[in-house]
Amino acid sequence: MKLLLGPGPSNVDRRVYEALSRPLVGHLDPEFLEVMNEIQHLLRYTFRTQNRLAIPLSGTGSAGMEAALVNFVQKGDPVLVGVAGLFGERMCDIVQRCGGRLARVDADWGHPLPLDSMERAIRTHRPRIVAVVHGETSTGVRQPLEELSRVTREQDSLFLVDAVTTLGGVPLEVDRWQIDLCYSGTQKCLSCPPGLSPLTVSDRGAEVLRSRRLPVQSWYLDLTLVQKYWGAERTYHHTAPISMNYALLEALRIVHEETLEARWSRHEENHRALVVGLSALGLEMLVDPEYRLWSLNTVKVPPAVEEERVRQRLLRQHDIEIGGGLGILRGKIWRIGLMGTSCVRENVQRFVEAFAASLQAEGFPCSARDALDQAGQVYKTRDA
Ligand SMILES: *Cc1c(COP(=O)(O)O)cnc(C)c1O
Repeated sequence: MKLLLGPGPSNVDRRVYEALSRPLVGHLDPEFLEVMNEIQHLLRYTFRTQNRLAIPLSGTGSAGMEAALVNFVQKGDPVLVGVAGLFGERMCDIVQRCGGRLARVDADWGHPLPLDSMERAIRTHRPRIVAVVHGETSTGVRQPLEELSRVTREQDSLFLVDAVTTLGGVPLEVDRWQIDLCYSGTQKCLSCPPGLSPLTVSDRGAEVLRSRRLPVQSWYLDLTLVQKYWGAERTYHHTAPISMNYALLEALRIVHEETLEARWSRHEENHRALVVGLSALGLEMLVDPEYRLWSLNTVKVPPAVEEERVRQRLLRQHDIEIGGGLGILRGKIWRIGLMGTSCVRENVQRFVEAFAASLQAEGFPCSARDALDQAGQVYKTRDA
């Protein structure tokens, strides 16, 4: 068994594996309809929403991204995307494939979106949708959403948020922040295998969907059809991935039992301990403290150390997976995920120790003992 501390997937709880191996039932079996009901109920809890529409789409996080755009962008619609990393870029690509008129605001990778530029762009373009990524997994930045939500609402645009790396790990308030379209993935902070994409749509969003002139370009991701299977009609659209839904239900039950608040503080605490440990090793974080994403930590590769060799050592000798940088950050950072089940004190300690050993083996002097001591102080403060 490998310790998964990369940008996802994260480790899966034994209860979720057991749920995956339950005997199959039909996708219209009354027993499965109960499973579907409970999933929708627990998704509303996890997204912090009263939205009627809260369902898991068949497909990974990118299916959620595509659904959130293809259902709401019609040809010629102005859409504003805030781009602060790879996943913002991916949204731009999809908007263009949908025939939307794309406007974008760019942030330097490693920084949040510049609020003044976003405000100006929203007021100038009056977009139908303002789309941003809450946790940019490519950079480790948590994008603050409350101000953006306010400006978006002033122009009557729909607010779209990618919560793939934040749902279930980092505070996310769909209703309070007036998010109209929000999607996630199962394999990050929910600690389920990849394969489903939880998605929720506000009543405002649902109204836009109802008033479309033309059918949704994608048949598979057409929410007006998918909704009929998850709603009261239970009309066959496609065969739901039964086992994955059992797994998601169990993962959501675990979230609910722990409570979101406890989960958020667990992610915050382990993130803090990791950062203290990394700096004691003599390493520097990429992102300013106030914008750091608890679930995905980006740390700079020191000069004269080969990024990939350290990662390979961790995997081959210690069975620990972490991620490397993407795009312009390739070779420059490591990405260390602390998501869901993986995000516990023992894993932080095990990682810090193994990371120190791997860095030393690659010629970077550092002390595991100091780093462990200092990271331990973070937990002691809480224990006291
Ligand atoms: C992982 C991720 C995605 C894509 O999810 P897949 O499951 O890989 O399709 C989208 N957005 C963000 C922010 C992610 O971290």
